[in-house]
Amino acid sequence: MSEYDTFDDGLSRFVDPVAVSSEAVQADPALRPRNLDEYVGQARAVENLRVYIRAAKGRGEAMDHVLLSGPPGLGKTSLAHIIAEELGVEVRPTSGPVIERGGDLAAILNSLGPREVLFIDEIHRLNRAVEEVLYPALEDYRIDVMLGQGPGAQSVSIDLPRFTLVGATTRAGLLTRPLRDRFPIQISMEFYEPTELADIVRRSAERMGIEITDEAASALARRSRGTPRVANRLLRRTRDFAEVEANGVVDPAVVALTLERLGIDPEGLDSMDRKVLETIAYKFDGGPVGIDSLATAIGEEGDTIEDVYEPFLIMRGFIQRTRAGRILTQSGRKHLGLPPVEGQLF
Ligand code: ADP
Repeated sequence: MSEYDTFDDGLSRFVDPVAVSSEAVQADPALRPRNLDEYVGQARAVENLRVYIRAAKGRGEAMDHVLLSGPPGLGKTSLAHIIAEELGVEVRPTSGPVIERGGDLAAILNSLGPREVLFIDEIHRLNRAVEEVLYPALEDYRIDVMLGQGPGAQSVSIDLPRFTLVGATTRAGLLTRPLRDRFPIQISMEFYEPTELADIVRRSAERMGIEITDEAASALARRSRGTPRVANRLLRRTRDFAEVEANGVVDPAVVALTLERLGIDPEGLDSMDRKVLETIAYKFDGGPVGIDSLATAIGEEGDTIEDVYEPFLIMRGFIQRTRAGRILTQSGRKHLGLPPVEGQLF
């Protein structure tokens, strides 16, 4: 067992990028890109960030607040840490559900140094009372604290140093409007291209001391759901199969064997992805079906379906979201081996 094996997920859902999200970051610092040059992909966002970072540094000011949105495993946490690294300041990481009371957030804010980065993961899960504390902090760099209770209570305003909030969320639409509006920089993360993922796989392999052929890296990349975290996790498993069932080198045959054993199909879909497609196809006659009915039929949380499974299936064109609900597209039907429906446009 090496340091890279520090997390495993029991394969409950192999490609679920959520299952290990926060532990993965701590357990796996070796694979995290450390600066913008090491950060593969998201080209437009990265180039713009370079400008904002340089400008803020040049002025000696805190950078504007940034909202990062996109499905799990696409590199939001990594990017938040990199922003701090590139700004040359400390980052204070926390997450929405952890901050229970306004006072908790006030204490965190009060401990920030000038121009430091506060990273709030899952920022859509902040409760209203906490959000109320955040608004004046974001706009005016101050917090209002209540001293005492009852009629004699007094509100005292405390000035904060200028800081940068980096918020991450799976969907920007989950944030309340007033919170979303307070982020001057909003970045929506995209799924990665296979060539970018192949690059990530090769770099990770190098860092982990895994020998992998270029062809194998590309094959793995094509079946990683456009998601770096999935690519890295698949890479680990190919190493296991390479060591136990082959000569230690990850080649295309090892990749094919690993993915077959994990039940991942040629498009990178696992059994849960296929279950979503099959449920729409067979139980709902191709749709449209609302998220609640779909969630009940599958036995999974609606939010999880919307955050984790759907974005990739939509991006690949297998399902489509319409006003009336999700429908299985012609490509989705084809992927399941079903004949096309006559008269259906998509
Ligand atoms: P998120 O916060 O969006 O769930 P993370 O930042 O935790 O995603 O990324 C998951 C893992 O994927 C990281 O630990 C890192 O190894 C890898 N990763 C993510 N984005 C990139 C990237 N752009 N370049 C290289 N590796 C990446």
